[in-house]
Amino acid sequence: MQTEEIRNFCIIAHIDHGKSTLADRMLEYTDTITDRKMQKQVLDKMDLERERGITIKAQAVTINYRDYELNLIDTPGHVDFAYEVSRSLAACEGAILVIDAAQGVEAQTMANIYLALEHDLEVIPVINKIDLPAANPDRVKEQLLEIGIDPDEAILASAKNGTNIDKILDAVIERIPAPQAGADQPLKALVFDSFYDSYQGVIAYVRIMEGSVKKDDNILLMSNQKSYQVDEVGYFGPDMTPKKELTAGEVGYIISGIKDVRNCRVGDTITKKERPAAAALPGYQKVKPMVFSGLYPTDNSDYEVLKEALEKLQLNDASFTFEPETSEALGFGFRCGFLGLLHMEVIQERLEREYDLDLVITAPSVEYNIVKKNGDVLKIENPALFPDPAEIAEIKEPFVNAEIHLPEEYVGQAMELCQDNRGEFADMQYIDQDRVTLSYKMPLSEIITDFFNQLKSRTRGYATLDYELKGYEKSNLVKLDILVNGELVDALSTIVHDDNSYQEGNYLTRRLKEVIPRHMFKVPIQAAIGGKIIARANIPAMRKNVLQKCYGGDITRKRKLLEKQKEGKKRMKQVGSVEIPQEAFMAILERE
Ligand code: GDP
Ligand code: MG
Repeated sequence: MQTEEIRNFCIIAHIDHGKSTLADRMLEYTDTITDRKMQKQVLDKMDLERERGITIKAQAVTINYRDYELNLIDTPGHVDFAYEVSRSLAACEGAILVIDAAQGVEAQTMANIYLALEHDLEVIPVINKIDLPAANPDRVKEQLLEIGIDPDEAILASAKNGTNIDKILDAVIERIPAPQAGADQPLKALVFDSFYDSYQGVIAYVRIMEGSVKKDDNILLMSNQKSYQVDEVGYFGPDMTPKKELTAGEVGYIISGIKDVRNCRVGDTITKKERPAAAALPGYQKVKPMVFSGLYPTDNSDYEVLKEALEKLQLNDASFTFEPETSEALGFGFRCGFLGLLHMEVIQERLEREYDLDLVITAPSVEYNIVKKNGDVLKIENPALFPDPAEIAEIKEPFVNAEIHLPEEYVGQAMELCQDNRGEFADMQYIDQDRVTLSYKMPLSEIITDFFNQLKSRTRGYATLDYELKGYEKSNLVKLDILVNGELVDALSTIVHDDNSYQEGNYLTRRLKEVIPRHMFKVPIQAAIGGKIIARANIPAMRKNVLQKCYGGDITRKRKLLEKQKEGKKRMKQVGSVEIPQEAFMAILERE
């Protein structure tokens, strides 16, 4: 393939503006997928992705249109996966920017535009959903002008009805530059995703920046200097279709017997062993988890099953980490690291669905840096492992730059929420007459609690949130311990800011009183800092047996009641003589 006939592009959009639907229409229109095989949102492959309407992994598909080879790379659409998105964009020369004609420019739209500019992409604005009665393309055009995009370049479309799909495809060919690539240079292939298959091993999704690659070549991964022999190269049609050779400018896959996705990470450069490139492609980062929580099987005998499940999930996910952990309260489990809360939820859900596991999950924590008085520096992501306060010289926590995009009328409420969550105001900008972007510096630990939900509810769903890690800074933090029936439950310990510690202690004891069921005896719940009790609540003893309600007569009702209790028990963990339900471990997340 001549590079003049290749176009590599992605579709970027704020969530729900129609990215997946537009991709579907483009595949249909070009007969890349026959009607029979057409499933809604072909590119979102995983069940979970379809149900949640989000893309978790990058996908690629080659479209043949007017004698051109158009490679569409679909990127994940969530802040947790910002690095993956940046690597996908690095594989493209252009981007279709989809904007909902009724909603207009949103936070993610802006974030996407900045990303596109950063990667020097040619942007084709598409105003989608013009079929909607509330569509207001003229207003969107005004917004485009305000953010520096020529409104005359915008294509009005309806992905739903298939309106102007041909115009969009033509624009991809006419406006997006062909890749500039030297086919005779040493190989440089950018890995923009990788995927593990139990038969073929790791499948690397690549954009060939320079050179070419074919079967039997000896390739070299530049970050770790590991080499492999190529078994197969090909393209996504959208199914994997083998091909003789991938050459400069093209997008496709390489299979080479790599057994572990951690050896083929997103952003790495693949070259050839015999004729290596002088330097790797820029931008490679080994992404690190930012959010950690403990995963414990409800039933201790499921430990091995959980371990195997985690190993399997990790095969496909180089950014997910886990290591064994023991809790006095919960027994044997794992401390797992995630990119963010969505990533955490996705992994939990997969463990429960695909492996049928019942889990107790502790509240997510960030990684703290602790400098001890003796000079030791510790990195701790499990609050239970915090050293004695008397030994601590200072604690540093991760901060983020948060951007909130919202209608002007909710600015007051959003600012109040940020302040309540230790946010430090940085900037406020008007995008147009009634839309505002607020910037705050905030501790990551506050963002990963209930912040996003609260923001949504205070702004009637209109606000959106983006954040990026800024770095570590000193904070006045303390460990808040919880004692249930006089026993310290290590898995309930959390790190809080000293100024809020009484309030948090009060809230937690009250909340735990609500979620921990009554027992035959009185159960005191106490919150403590460094051994000093700061709050207390009592769960009174149970008065009567639930079965007495059934008057001994109705057997089926009695059975139902017992079964209901059993269901409820599933997610209970026996700690000492007290049963603690899953919600208790998440109580800190829902704080008011
Ligand atoms: P994504 O999150 O950007 O991938 O958005 P989707 O493609 O999943 O679309 C979000 C919702 O908008 C879905 O319910 C689509 O059916 C709907 N949608 C997408 N394009 C159009 C359009 O052109 N017109 C209308 N009326 N609805 C659309
Ligand atoms: Mg989508």
